[in-house]
Amino acid sequence: MDRMQAPELDGATAHQRLVDPFGRAITYLRVSVTDRCDFRCVYCMAENMTFLPKADLLSLEELDRLCSAFIARGVRKLRLTGGEPLVRRSIMTLVSSLSRHLRCGQLDELTLTTNGSQLAKYAAELKSHGVQRINVSLDTLDADKFRAITRWGSLHQVLTGIDAAQAAGLKIKINAVALKGVNEDEFPQLIEWAHGRGMDLTLIEVMPLGEIGEGRLDQYLPLSIVRARLAERYRLDDIDYRTGGPARYVRVTETGGLLGFITPLTHNFCESCNRVRVTCTGTLYMCLGQEDAADLRKPMRASEANDSLFTAIDEAILRKPKGHDFIIDRRHKRPALARHMNVTGG
Ligand code: SAM
Ligand code: SF4
Repeated sequence: MDRMQAPELDGATAHQRLVDPFGRAITYLRVSVTDRCDFRCVYCMAENMTFLPKADLLSLEELDRLCSAFIARGVRKLRLTGGEPLVRRSIMTLVSSLSRHLRCGQLDELTLTTNGSQLAKYAAELKSHGVQRINVSLDTLDADKFRAITRWGSLHQVLTGIDAAQAAGLKIKINAVALKGVNEDEFPQLIEWAHGRGMDLTLIEVMPLGEIGEGRLDQYLPLSIVRARLAERYRLDDIDYRTGGPARYVRVTETGGLLGFITPLTHNFCESCNRVRVTCTGTLYMCLGQEDAADLRKPMRASEANDSLFTAIDEAILRKPKGHDFIIDRRHKRPALARHMNVTGG
């Protein structure tokens, strides 16, 4: 673990917080540690994906250095994502190394978003490194549908992973993408299953990212419709609980659990955005819904000192846009952005 730790970061710039031109402090970093995945979810990837050459990826040491630089500049929450973060080789070395920031109090939360396929193997280790909560993506409890949505995944394996994570003491939030004609009749079952096991559930609208070989219009199901249907069955109380992200939460009175709605297309959440994303090649995206990006790999590789890395981060944050412009309608059948979700990690 110590072998991969980046040198401690200090100096004047290391202590300045990252604040964008709209006054939003950047306190949340999402890092895609790989673009690869053991699933091929229909809304995320084409079946035959070309992945990045391994040489283009940041090493685990570089990922640690990059995350540590953001933490030195005020990031308090770090989420590892992908692709599937748990298929990156030796990923626990990175988790273990980053956990030092939790121990010294510079980081409030180290978490990850996973498809759950490798949780049986890693849940206990994640917990031992200070991870308290994770998000697991699961769109259906029907094994055949699960296979159809993920193309390569096994529902049984994911459920076994969820069992292992709960047994290890990890708190789980389930994320489900709402897919027209696929899982739209299953939300009551998903709510009762998740809440019955003490897990919150968040429903996500399909976002127009990447060519996936199928029409987005066919997949898109507005959550305003889903919510209206659920309200006929359950009492949904709006609550103030915010994560700083795009989810809005209600409490389902009958189950006592929380239900979140992530509606990037029907609701604008940008004014409270506190996050940026880094890809596994070290490209910083200031907004999930815009193309503008900054290369952090080059300044990192150019020098062992972090001065030019901090300069590149500062310049990029000054360009963080006010908001995104996703559109799916009959005139915009192409994806709003060419990059796939597995590149920026959602
Ligand atoms: N492999 C991990 C997983 O599936 O949880 C982490 C990466 S995945 C890209 C992160 C989240 O993005 C998942 O919850 C997934 O369902 C969601 N996602 C992927 N493509 C999406 C899209 N086009 N629109 C909305 N959500 C998407
Ligand atoms: Fe893999 Fe997650 Fe994308 Fe599904 S959503 S293909 S699990 S990265």
